[in-house]
Amino acid sequence: MTSAVVVGGGPNGLAAAALLAKAGLQVTLLEAADEIGGGTRSHEAILPGLLHDHCSAVHPMAVTSPALRALDLERHGLRWRLADVDCVHPLDDGTAGVLLRSVEETADGLRRDGRPYRALLAPSVRHWDALAPDVMGPLLRIPVHPLRLARFGLPTALPATVLARLFRTPEARALWAGVAAHAFRPLTHPFSSAIGLGLLTAGHAAGWAVAEGGSQAISRAMAEVLRLHGGRIHTGVRVTDRAQIPPADVTLLDLDPAQVAALYGDRLPPHVRAAYRRFRRGPGAYKLDLAVEGGVPWTNEQARRAGTVHVGGPLAEVAQAERDVTAGRMPERPFVLVGQQYLADPARSVGDVHPVWAYAHVPHGYDGDATEAILRQIERFAPGVRERVVGQRVTRPADFAAANANFTGGDILTGARTIPQLLLGARPALDPYSTGVPGVFLCSAATPPGPGAHGMCGAGAAASALRRLGVPPA
Ligand SMILES: Cc1cc2nc3c(=O)[nH]c(=O)nc-3n(C[C@H](O)[C@H](O)[C@H](O)COP(=O)(O)OP(=O)(O)OC[C@H]3O[C@@H](n4cnc5c(N)ncnc54)[C@H](O)[C@@H]3O)c2cc1C
Repeated sequence: MTSAVVVGGGPNGLAAAALLAKAGLQVTLLEAADEIGGGTRSHEAILPGLLHDHCSAVHPMAVTSPALRALDLERHGLRWRLADVDCVHPLDDGTAGVLLRSVEETADGLRRDGRPYRALLAPSVRHWDALAPDVMGPLLRIPVHPLRLARFGLPTALPATVLARLFRTPEARALWAGVAAHAFRPLTHPFSSAIGLGLLTAGHAAGWAVAEGGSQAISRAMAEVLRLHGGRIHTGVRVTDRAQIPPADVTLLDLDPAQVAALYGDRLPPHVRAAYRRFRRGPGAYKLDLAVEGGVPWTNEQARRAGTVHVGGPLAEVAQAERDVTAGRMPERPFVLVGQQYLADPARSVGDVHPVWAYAHVPHGYDGDATEAILRQIERFAPGVRERVVGQRVTRPADFAAANANFTGGDILTGARTIPQLLLGARPALDPYSTGVPGVFLCSAATPPGPGAHGMCGAGAAASALRRLGVPPA
């Protein structure tokens, strides 16, 4: 029987493993941690019963991901849930940019910015199902829908600050800045609009969904598909030497390029080895999980109903914070993402105590204390929040790296989204998943389409491996 080994059980490793097993391969997955999931895990981090997502929380790209759909995860226990309001970006005067599921309703709320908002997003949202395989795949290939892809892709090349000129109101400009800032890049850089436009388009098509029972439900459902097709999972196996990897027809690595260079350095073609060693890492994340009695008392009423709240003030301030962290400076007012997943999935709370997930963008490897800066930012838009906090847990950049070797320096995107890495992944190649070592493939978020719990990097690598083996996909 044709065999495969997958190293790393994050969403991409799991997607690759499940798709290979479905195609009839005998698959073994090795995971360093004591549990599978990588960036899609959930814990009772503060109080018994209070469920926090360790990393990924909100999944607009996952709901419509062709990879996850191919695995039919809903049949294996995954349920997507939506809060009333997708995302809110509050401002100091109590107003806010408000993102709703519908483009029309969002545009109506943006008043005189509604027209440019609708014009920017409605055409791609309408065709997102057809567009998703093109947008969420490698760039260097013939797209299925070239014209639609071009329509979507052209504005992604703009710096987010230039695209923001479409809008006049502080609310719309701030809303856009917060979504664009998911790229962890200066908003003045070309292509800093790409990730934001992807999130908005997928979000309007599918909602900013959370997984019922925590993001761990995504990895558990994939693991179930894998096991159903005869796959085996070994946890607690940290691969630091190639000799630990059992022989197989294909090997897929859900690892960052530096680890692949360390494991396969002598076998990689020199240009691939050089590219993997040159691979640039991005800023870090500093996370603060909170147990909040009665929820966060946001001044803006819509923010109280929002699954995600972007805390960073007006566009200029978000842009400054992103410029700072890229330059290695800790901003006084960092950009903070706040998740209130319990609004969509109430079983994560215990009585009136709710799990609130928050993380700030900080410099790569930041070893200072950002807790106070995060709390100050939240309190700025939610006075009185501190009095409601009954417990907290901090995850520093070094803690992220210790929990998952792919998150070096707290870089949770597995690589800076510089233009070449954003567009091409770890190296320019027609097959960005191939490592150049026969039968060995890279399948982590360092490959196209990049970070997120959508499994599409894993699916791309699995497709590449199956092509090489001459095995048709299931
Ligand atoms: C705080 C935070 C918030 C986030 N928010 C979101 C969000 O809301 N939505 C979203 O879509 N994404 C989000 N992400 C990003 C998302 O989690 C990642 O992009 C995604 O998990 C990447 O998947 P992956 O499979 O490539 O790698 P990972 O999830 O990094 O998994 C890699 C796995 O490989 C294992 N591993 C590493 N090295 C070895 C080794 N040598 N041997 C064996 N095993 C190894 C690791 O333990 C890990 O389990 C967030 C991430 C973080 C940390």
